[in-house]
Amino acid sequence: MNYQKILDEIAVEITTMPHEGTVADYIPELAKVDPDKFGIHLSTVRNEDFAIGDSEDKFSVQSISKVFSLAMAFSILGDKLWKRVGVEPSGNPFNSIVQLEYEDGIPRNPFVNAGALVIVDVLLSELENPEEDLFAFVKSLTASRQIGYNAVVAQSEKETGFLNAAFVNMMKAKGNIINQTDDILDFYYKQCSIELNCRELASAFLHFGENALSYSHAGFSLTKSQVKRLNALMLSCGFYDESGQFAFKVGLAGKSGVGGGIVAVYPEEFAVAVWSPKLNKKGNSVRGFHSLELLTTKTESSIF
Ligand code: GLN
Repeated sequence: MNYQKILDEIAVEITTMPHEGTVADYIPELAKVDPDKFGIHLSTVRNEDFAIGDSEDKFSVQSISKVFSLAMAFSILGDKLWKRVGVEPSGNPFNSIVQLEYEDGIPRNPFVNAGALVIVDVLLSELENPEEDLFAFVKSLTASRQIGYNAVVAQSEKETGFLNAAFVNMMKAKGNIINQTDDILDFYYKQCSIELNCRELASAFLHFGENALSYSHAGFSLTKSQVKRLNALMLSCGFYDESGQFAFKVGLAGKSGVGGGIVAVYPEEFAVAVWSPKLNKKGNSVRGFHSLELLTTKTESSIF
């Protein structure tokens, strides 16, 4: 498969389409990102790498980070985790509070914000140095020398994250949060504002397509069956109330973030990361989504 040729074709096709969407301006710092940035990196299980555009630029991974923290919490608690958070698509936006009250403070899945905040609560309770462990885990998965987060973005989220505070407080009232609200939010904003480039993301997610987390990354490991479940959650919930569309049009397990990144996994073959900051109404990268649709169409690499 000539992946480089296909990525080059995608770059041409994408830039001739109308450039729709808006950057994530509900987080003021993210509104400053250049909306025209566009990059793709594809890594195969044979250690081949293919890239186009701004694939080496670091960007805010935002909700893509929820896969890393979930992998850690699942590795620690195993199936006990599912008492605290569900595994069903929400059919609602990532920042919707409506289901949370009538479902008694148990979030639908670990990728909506409420679910990711429960995962943070687990990490804070179970680990002595949760922050160090998260960065070490991401560093090991990405095989990067240095992993960091953007403190200005984290602060910007903290100043405007009223809904996230509401999720934690609602769940605390319902008995599904143990730690202090501020500690959970501080950790969550650091996690979301981790900066990685497309190459690092593709390299990290290649592990989820190879069942290779059975060996330890910074002390965390997942069985083959657990990696399979992680992929199932990415497929059914990775794009919130657009997860059905992503399965329908792209046909891979994946995860998006409001920083404009999308990562997708084609098991036993490749992981691919795309970055383009303009988002659709569901909070998913417009060009990222289109690029992956073109990629799986051209390569016939859907899992279905
Ligand atoms: N940090 C963002 C938030 O809490 C993450 C949302 C996302 O990427 N979908 O709103």
